[in-house]
Order: sequence, then structure tokens, then C-alpha cells
Amino acid sequence: MSELPYSYEAQASQALFDRAAAVTPGGVNSPVRAFRAVGGTPRFMVSGTGPYLTDADGREYVDLVCSWGPMILGHAHPEVIAAVQEAVARGTSFGTPGEGEVALAEEMVARIEPLEQVRLVSSGTEATMSAIRLARGFTRRTKVVKFAGCYHGHVDSLLASAGSGVATFALPDTPGVTGAQAGDTIVLPYNDLDAVHAAFAAHPGEIACVITEASPGNMGVVPPLPGFNQGLKDACAANGALYVSDEVMTGFRTSREGWYGVDGVRPDLMTFGKVMGGGFPAAAFGGRADVMGHLAPAGPVYQAGTLSGNPVATAAGLAQLRLLDDAAYEKVNAASARIQSLVTEALTKEGVAHTLQTASNMFSVFFTDRPVRDYDDAKAQESFRYTAFFHSLLADGVYLPPSSFESWFVSTAHDDRAVQRIADALPAAARAAAEATA
Ligand SMILES: *Cc1c(COP(=O)(O)O)cnc(C)c1O
Repeated sequence: MSELPYSYEAQASQALFDRAAAVTPGGVNSPVRAFRAVGGTPRFMVSGTGPYLTDADGREYVDLVCSWGPMILGHAHPEVIAAVQEAVARGTSFGTPGEGEVALAEEMVARIEPLEQVRLVSSGTEATMSAIRLARGFTRRTKVVKFAGCYHGHVDSLLASAGSGVATFALPDTPGVTGAQAGDTIVLPYNDLDAVHAAFAAHPGEIACVITEASPGNMGVVPPLPGFNQGLKDACAANGALYVSDEVMTGFRTSREGWYGVDGVRPDLMTFGKVMGGGFPAAAFGGRADVMGHLAPAGPVYQAGTLSGNPVATAAGLAQLRLLDDAAYEKVNAASARIQSLVTEALTKEGVAHTLQTASNMFSVFFTDRPVRDYDDAKAQESFRYTAFFHSLLADGVYLPPSSFESWFVSTAHDDRAVQRIADALPAAARAAAEATA
């Protein structure tokens, strides 16, 4: 990758990447960070302030990734940092209950009406894994329905996608996941309620839950069609299954109450992560009290964690959530809308076929002129144009997700100056996208 022309600007990052590759597989601790989809040297960041990141070579970027969603107040928000410093000074982990975790749970439950009880964990993966175990334990059923293109963390049984067709039993997506682990997962096309009804008809009394991203952001932004989530909820209710809404990405981002605040469809269980941790490893699952009551030590379904409800992580998360009032969401939404229209304007001017899709302040650009309703549509885009677009913006100091299958994220800190820097960089990027060849 170092032969690509861009890396002359990234010598320090490249040196770190070479060191990293010697001691860590692929040089990264989470695959998409490695820039494999777009090529080039991943930037090693050394600091962040507001909407900006600074890399090891001293170059500053306007950040449109925001740590994949968590940094909705921008980097190093003074009040979040102060809460963390205060918590750290009192000790970093006790392995006992503490007030911080109670306060964070109270804040979450107060915001989201269907969330009657929560259990705190340390990652979104842990949250979805535990929610599925609980759904199975509660219903005493084995099968789980998920949708192609929805990502729920690297849970064995959820790392599966289907071949074509309806209600296909999943084949494992990765070596290391056994046929048995994936075999109880039914993968359906997103936004296809007929497929959901067919799956319930084909497996009466066997489906424990349907899990879906509340509004998917992991195949690019592909919001549910009107009535889709309600249809899922109704199908679950009619068949004795639980409706599990994965709000790890959308929770506390798409509104004060996450996606629930947008579509009002009442989940039985929900999962959270990202924004609720304020940049620390804090996540959660929760929902109906009668279901959550099946969890140990109240009930028989086992679940635990040495660092669950960690005092530093909960202090960061609570400080962030308390700052996220209506005015904060208005700010994020407004910044997002401005950036969206700048992107559309630049690409339209260069005649680049594209579809910009939004879910509240989350958005992404697909290089296709057709609406994207499911994973197959998303895969039909001209990703090579994204590669050119991405590298042009990177060279001009704008940091986009290094893949065309990801949401872009903005924060309350994306002010006029940051937006102007994006505006200045977009024309050349749009031209690069127009001129790109497969
Ligand atoms: C990020 C994400 C996860 C996984 O969370 P981690 O903290 O990375 O384990 C699960 N579900 C959704 C919808 C996500 O966006």
C-alpha cells in the first residue's frame, strides 16, 4: 500500500503502521480502520479537538467519522473531560456496584419510554449477544431472524449473511463460526416484510426474536421504509417472538430518544453503545421489565462483566447524555443538513450519479442513481468513485469513513469554519469521483 502516491503526506502514520503490522494482525485492532476498502496509509491520530483530528504527521482533518458515532459533542468536550478527570481521580474500577452506573441507567430509562430496565456492558457486540441470549432464554426458542447488511457486532451467530432467496438458512460469513452457530440464524433481505411473514410461517413456534438495526447505518444509511419496523413488531407480537431493536448506532444520536424517538415503534428489547459511552467502552441492553427480569441474578439467564458499569466510562457517558438536550440535536441536525446539501451540490455540478440517504443526522452517499433499499442495492453502487472521492478529501483535510458502506457522522462542534473547510474541499473531490475509472 505504501506505493500509493498519497503516503508521502503520511510518513509518520506509515512508520507506525509498519510497527503495528509486526505486532497486530493487519496493523489494526478493528478491520475497517486499515483502509483496505480505499487503499493507502491509515492515518494514526494523536489528538482530537471539537470537529478536528490531528494525525501523527501533524496534519489536521475535519472529522466526519466521529469515532464511528460516539463523539456527538466533538472531541475532548471540556465538560466530558472534566467528568472523566473527576471520576479517574476517585479510582478506575471497584468490581462493586456504584452510583455512576445507577445514574446512567436512570438517565437512559428516563429518556426512552419502552426502556424499563437496562443492563450495562462494555461493547455493542456484548449488548446484542446478551440480548439474543436473553430472547432465547425468555421465549425458550432457538431461531433468530436478522437482515442482510445489518451489523450487530461480531457475535458468532450474527456474523452470517444469506445466499439469495427468502428465509435461506445462513452460512457462516467467516471461518471460525460453525455451521451450528449460524444455522439457527435466518437472514432475510432488508425492508422485505413478505420475507418476514414467510419465515414465521415456515418456522412456527421456533423464532425467538427478530433483530434489526433501528435504522441501518452499516451498509451505508438505508432507513426502514414507512411501516417496516411496525410490521416487524406486529409480526413478532403475532408469533410470540421478541422485537429487538439494535440502537447501538442510532441510540441518543438520531434524537434524544434515538430512533425510537423518530418512529415510535415499541421494541421488546433494545441495544445501545457508541454515544452512550461518551468515547469510552460502555454499552447496554434493556427493555421490558418482565423480560429483563429473566437475567441473572434476578433470573436464570446468565450474563456478567468484570468492567461492566465501569465508573470512568459511566461518568463520561452520563456527562455526554446530560449535554444532549434538544438544542444539541438541533445543532447536529443543522450541521448535517448543511454538509448534505454541499455534497449533493458538488456531485451534481460534476454530473456524478449519486443518491444521498439520511436517517435524521446520519447520512451517506451511494454512487448510484437508484434508491438503496437493501444490501444488494448498496452493493450495486460504483464504489471506485468513493475511493477517488475519499482520497481527494483526505488530501484536503477532510476525514470520511474509509469505506462506502458506512454512515458519516457529525457533531455539535461542526461549526461554520469546519463546514467551510468541507465546502472548500468538495469541488475537487467531486471532480475526482467523476473522473474515476473502475
Ligand atoms: C457498532 C455497532 C455494533 C457493535 O458495537 P461494538 O461496540 O463495536 O461492539 C452493533 N450494532 C450496531 C448497529 C453497530 O453500529
